[in-house]
Amino acid sequence: RAKAAGGNRFEFADAEADARAITRHGLTNALPAALERGEFFIEYQPLVHLHDGSVRGAEALVRWSHPQYGVLGPDRFIPLAERTGLIVPLGRWVLEESVRQARNWQREHGGAPLRVNVNLSPTQLTHPGLVADTLRVLESSGLAPGALCLEVTESALIGADDELLEPLRRLAALGVDIALDDFGTGYSNLANLRRLPVSVLKLDRSFTQGMQQEPADPVDVKIVEGIVALAHSLELAVTVEGVETGAQAAQLRALGCDTAQGWYYARPGSPDRIHTLSLCDAVPTG
Ligand code: C2E
Ligand code: MG
Ligand code: MG
Ligand code: MG
Repeated sequence: RAKAAGGNRFEFADAEADARAITRHGLTNALPAALERGEFFIEYQPLVHLHDGSVRGAEALVRWSHPQYGVLGPDRFIPLAERTGLIVPLGRWVLEESVRQARNWQREHGGAPLRVNVNLSPTQLTHPGLVADTLRVLESSGLAPGALCLEVTESALIGADDELLEPLRRLAALGVDIALDDFGTGYSNLANLRRLPVSVLKLDRSFTQGMQQEPADPVDVKIVEGIVALAHSLELAVTVEGVETGAQAAQLRALGCDTAQGWYYARPGSPDRIHTLSLCDAVPTG
């Protein structure tokens, strides 16, 4: 049967690949106008302290409200924006908007000042305006540098030379936190961690998934234990992403992780929701 269907299947696969390429092409071409028309928006996903469940801040996650295709997630368009360089103005917009939002949160309610995490892609890292843009955005909003955390993926920094690290070092020296995102997936040299101006390791979701079953995957438990010990000995904080159940939260808290993010606490959503979460402190802690 497979043989008989073979010809058709390949034609079908080709047609599908063509359709995907056409969509990619269309989306790529539409990006600049979409930015001008304000079709992008940001959802915020709370980051909570694992020990007491209080909200520490949120990660800014960009979406595209496409007039034809509906809401598109970043995996659909960030790689395209990255390839064409549009990621620079788009990323600048995300930074401006998120920093302004964090400042609003701080103005609107007391307690420990909420912080915001913003993702940076590799092209933004090498763009000469990164430090100046970030400083300008912080100054014009009045947000303290310590309330901003820039997330850079581990893979973007593998083999990074001093030239690439220099802007991050300057930002870190000014008090901006730098997090190593999707940590544990990039085969980076652990000794290299000492050279990087990072203050947070964000453990990839794949490790969190190993905590979902009962009992937790013993190999993942060992790995997380080891990473936490290493991170803490280097004075780095550990954040875990993709926490979906109370059992995972409890396990990761027991393993000494510091902060967590995931559907168990809250899905990414509107910026106003952060208040209800942090004010009533009703976040379950597992
Ligand atoms: P990331 O920075 O690792 O963000 C975490 C992703 O995990 C987000 O996907 C989030 O919605 C998702 N997530 C959070 N909690 C859970 C959970 O409990 N379970 C599961 N299954 N998933 C969860 P999203 O929003 O689709 O973003 C995907 C990636 O796109 C991000 O991964 C980040 O690398 C990139 N991205 C998002 N916004 C921006 C941006 O403004 N600029 C750049 N350069 N990249 C961005
Ligand atoms: Mg991130
Ligand atoms: Mg991540
Ligand atoms: Mg991730």
